[in-house]
Amino acid sequence: MSNEKKGMTMTHFPTATVLGYPRIGANRELKRALESFWSGRGGNPATTAEELRDTRTNRLRELGLGEAAAVPEDFSYYDQVLDITIATGALPSRFAPEREVLKAQAATPESEEALRAQFTVARGQGDRPALELTKWFDSNYHYLVPEIGPETALEWLGSPRVATAQRLGEAVRPVLVGPVTYLALAKASEEAPEGYNPLDRLDDLVAVYTQYLRALKEAGVQWVQFDEPALVTHRHRTPQEREALLDALRRAYTALGNEGVNLAVALTYGHAFDAVDALAETPVQAVIIDVVRGKKPGAAELERWATSLKGKTLGVGVVSGRNIWRADLDADLAVLREIKAGLGEAVAVAVTTSTSLQHVPHDAERETQLDAELRSWLSFADQKVKEVAVLARGLAEGDEAIAAELEASRAAQASRKAHPGVEKAEVRQATAAVTEEQRTRGDAAERHDAQAAALGLPVLPTTTIGSFPQTDEIRRARAAHRSGKIDDQAYEEAMKKEIAEVIAAQEEIGLDVLVHGEAERNDMVQYFAENFEGFATTAHGWVQSYGSRCTRPSILWGDVTRPEAITVEWSRYAQSLSKRPVKGMLTGPVTIMAWSFVREDIAWGEVADQLGLALREEVGDLEAAGIKVIQVDEPAIRELLPLREEDREDYLAWSVGSFRLATAGAAPATSIHTHLCYSDFATIVDAIDRLDADVTSIEASRSKLKVLPAVAEHGFHRGLGPGVWDIHSARVPSTEEIADLLRVAVGALDTEQVWVNPDCGLKTRAWEETSATLRNLVEATRIVREEIAQ
Ligand code: GLN
Ligand code: ZN
Repeated sequence: MSNEKKGMTMTHFPTATVLGYPRIGANRELKRALESFWSGRGGNPATTAEELRDTRTNRLRELGLGEAAAVPEDFSYYDQVLDITIATGALPSRFAPEREVLKAQAATPESEEALRAQFTVARGQGDRPALELTKWFDSNYHYLVPEIGPETALEWLGSPRVATAQRLGEAVRPVLVGPVTYLALAKASEEAPEGYNPLDRLDDLVAVYTQYLRALKEAGVQWVQFDEPALVTHRHRTPQEREALLDALRRAYTALGNEGVNLAVALTYGHAFDAVDALAETPVQAVIIDVVRGKKPGAAELERWATSLKGKTLGVGVVSGRNIWRADLDADLAVLREIKAGLGEAVAVAVTTSTSLQHVPHDAERETQLDAELRSWLSFADQKVKEVAVLARGLAEGDEAIAAELEASRAAQASRKAHPGVEKAEVRQATAAVTEEQRTRGDAAERHDAQAAALGLPVLPTTTIGSFPQTDEIRRARAAHRSGKIDDQAYEEAMKKEIAEVIAAQEEIGLDVLVHGEAERNDMVQYFAENFEGFATTAHGWVQSYGSRCTRPSILWGDVTRPEAITVEWSRYAQSLSKRPVKGMLTGPVTIMAWSFVREDIAWGEVADQLGLALREEVGDLEAAGIKVIQVDEPAIRELLPLREEDREDYLAWSVGSFRLATAGAAPATSIHTHLCYSDFATIVDAIDRLDADVTSIEASRSKLKVLPAVAEHGFHRGLGPGVWDIHSARVPSTEEIADLLRVAVGALDTEQVWVNPDCGLKTRAWEETSATLRNLVEATRIVREEIAQ
């Protein structure tokens, strides 16, 4: 292309790049800056943001992304979807005042006023709820859901990207969520008519994106990356719907591609070959595909694209943006070479990551406490950047050019295969020998009677989800224990004191089925990871979950075993303090996997069964210790649900199977509970039914229990505790409010089925609101029980 402007020649798409990079900072600088700003402790996070953007740009160049436009400029103060909402003025009407502020500050989008307005939209204020948080595709990242209607006044309100791009110059490539994905992820606004489709606003939105592109062009930008992962999800059931979406894609990029800026469109989190075909018809200069989670293109696709993508670039996302495993360079090079050969000379091939690296921590080299051999198998964001650069060099210059790197890659693969913890014969034998019978409990009705006799509970039994407020005292004791300031015994005493207080409080409040409060757990997954074999935990491996929130997933690298009982002593102690049943509390196999970095050298069904067997031993030991109710939390079972319909049954078979393996050894009189953290229960009620738990608690209070009719209609006859207290907000619901929800539950389900509980664990709540609300919950239950009796 001889597209010249401002004396600069338009560059080709970089031969090596990544689609995005962690934004939170290697030391979580952004988190600190945001939280300090929110709490009024001062400082404008813009200062930190500027430092972070400079540091990451320099770092990425240093690591091998030295070509023009190779560094993604995807920094975000809170969320990349919110960034578009703000830039295009797509705020719901309840945020009209914030919109005014943002409009007035359009030229200074990083002023304190503008940032404050943005954070109000992200976090809510008073009775104006924040935009809803939802999982970003099948990842653990949450985005803020746009609300779009015919009334949404779309308008260019400026973005920090523009000044940043200008400042950082030709090194960077701004990254934006594309317009089709933005609208596909939006929900209809409150004002919108029934059945409204936000995609109806595509042309208006594209007009605003056009202004955005012009501003970037003026800032000297040569390449812009648009992320369009919505194209891979196939939520569009009919061929007509799919065609409409592809049409939207064509329309959007035909318009945007004519603005004199080179566009790259990334189809990540799966594959969407038809979208590649559609983009080939537009002026888009580079199309990026994910060959890690998505299928690799076959000979037919390559032959087609060799012509249709002539003069353009195909970016191949071959280094995973989702896991932390070191790349097998030989295997990746083979994929790249096959694609390159299939495409021929006329289509350039670029090496990249399968998604943004926002899902992985910064730097594995900082994990010096890890075993050096294990560390040599890992690749966090910085290592992945190097892998991309090395692969690009190997692709261009041949194996000799990267001989040392290939050698190191092979050595790491070999060391991993040979490590005794990776494959343990006794574990493989045990999972291979699992029978259907081990996954099957007795008849549900018989169990119901046996449990009723064993527990003697009133109608509408009251309980909680597991954790109680994590006080400063608990955190201090845990930190002191970790750093060796207090010994095991002192720690155990501190935790026991806490358990005793939690039990006494629940008895005094009058709950029926108690919990021990989970004071000893830092995190419901990490706690098990630390106690099972086959896991490692990191010191700095933080990844952004949403806004300033980060999690530190454990690494599941080897075959899983349970060296000894984990929760039993705590549960036994808690039960010794009360005549009422105290629930044993475990985290299920699927949730442990979903919230860890899981090995990919064996099938996930095998990993799940290994966890299922280890948990099964724990269930058995809890029963032997006299625990009559055992809850196995699976809040993440929905989260791993494959994006594509056709992959779902397979997933449900192994995920449900592993839960049943964990729980089906329990005697009929032992009550198995599970907890799920979401309310779109109706969509997978069938799967939940297959878990065969006796009682399931769900999150339903925000939606005012509106899922219950669908649940009843499905014929779900097990115990169900629809959360009647939204623990995610700090208010104390009144007795009447809770009683009303209970009346809804009793109206929709059989009275016999209904349990009364909050909608999630209480660890983020304060004691004051916790005891006030639980009192109201018990009182509301008393009132409704009386109404039922009449
Ligand atoms: N038992 C856990 C708790 O109460 C469940 C948490 C969750 O569902 N995320 O904290
Ligand atoms: Zn929950």
